[in-house]
Amino acid sequence: MSGRQFGRRQFIDRVAKTGVALAGLASPLLGQEAPKPAEGETKPAEPPAPPPPPPGARYALPTAATGEIPCGLCPHGCKIKKGTRGKCQAYAHTAEGKLESLGYGKVAKLKVEQIETDHFFHVLPGAQAVFYGAPTCNLHCSYCSEWRISQFPAEKVPTQPIEPKALVDHVAAQGGKLLGCTYTDPAAAIEYAIDVALAARERGLYPITHTGAYLTPGPMKDYASVLTALNVDLKAYAETTYKTLCEGSLQPVLDAIKAARETPVWLEITCLMVPGYNNTLSVVKDMCKWIAENAGPATPVHFIRFFPEYKHRQYQTASTDPVQLKSFREAAYEAGLLFAYVGNVPGDFGESTLCPKCSEMLIRRVGTNVSAVSFDPHRGLCTHCGVQIPGIWE
Ligand code: SF4
Repeated sequence: MSGRQFGRRQFIDRVAKTGVALAGLASPLLGQEAPKPAEGETKPAEPPAPPPPPPGARYALPTAATGEIPCGLCPHGCKIKKGTRGKCQAYAHTAEGKLESLGYGKVAKLKVEQIETDHFFHVLPGAQAVFYGAPTCNLHCSYCSEWRISQFPAEKVPTQPIEPKALVDHVAAQGGKLLGCTYTDPAAAIEYAIDVALAARERGLYPITHTGAYLTPGPMKDYASVLTALNVDLKAYAETTYKTLCEGSLQPVLDAIKAARETPVWLEITCLMVPGYNNTLSVVKDMCKWIAENAGPATPVHFIRFFPEYKHRQYQTASTDPVQLKSFREAAYEAGLLFAYVGNVPGDFGESTLCPKCSEMLIRRVGTNVSAVSFDPHRGLCTHCGVQIPGIWE
């Protein structure tokens, strides 16, 4: 059986056939990360142009009799007094009595990466994507690898001002197809995330997002409706662990997943397995059962190997045992899920896609080296048994 390279080869193939690639990446806008402050440093960068005026918060609720503005965007449900901000530090109650997004149009990190690095395995395998992240986040994960841009107020994070159309124009001008929001959460500037996704769709691009889904069902559904693909971090399957790991709670995330499922968006789920916190096999089994029943058996689930970052370096948390990841993958299959993967273990068999009907290897992955084996990427079919494989393939 001959393998077909999805990585650079398919990239070149796509340029030739469809013009879809991010060749060159010559734009000063693209392929660059905003400069990061050193640890503990919060010096803002000098912006090259004035940022767009902050818009009103889309999910602000009517001002209460107390003068507070309730924010309906996420389950924290902040009631924000004049002159203060929400828990995320991204929405402020201004002197004029409005709730404003502080992160609109501000990009803290912008980078071109292969789609697999963001744990999308059923979306244009091997393709390059432009990923961006706005400053701050509404979750406070103790292992956040992007804590320098996620855990500071918006104005203390170095950013580049980029209008949605400018971001989309640069991706399109270079033949890119995928424009993704990641690094921090789209909840950090949901109005911007929605505008970027709408602008991307208008240009025929695929807007995708990786999120903690710490959103109330209405905003989650609104946002998922304008996306092509969504990857949700399900950080644990126990309320206490959610609180401990990210100062959030589980049930709202489950509700958000169900809300996203009511839209046509392509959904994948990522679980970073943190030893001593969320890696109990019986709990993982329950989680997989919930995913199969509520998100659907065709939802790919990724069990990611944890390496200590941020506060977990001080906690000296161990990295995940790859053998345990294998048992989680088996638990997913036993629960009825059709696609289960391991991540952060380059070369592991569990990175590859198997046919749920005949078990042939469809797509082989060794890190970012991706190749089709028994798979027709144009029609999304297993070439061995002919079954249709769900995903976004063209
Ligand atoms: S998005 Fe921010 S301001 Fe709104 S409820 Fe969540 S944490 Fe509070």
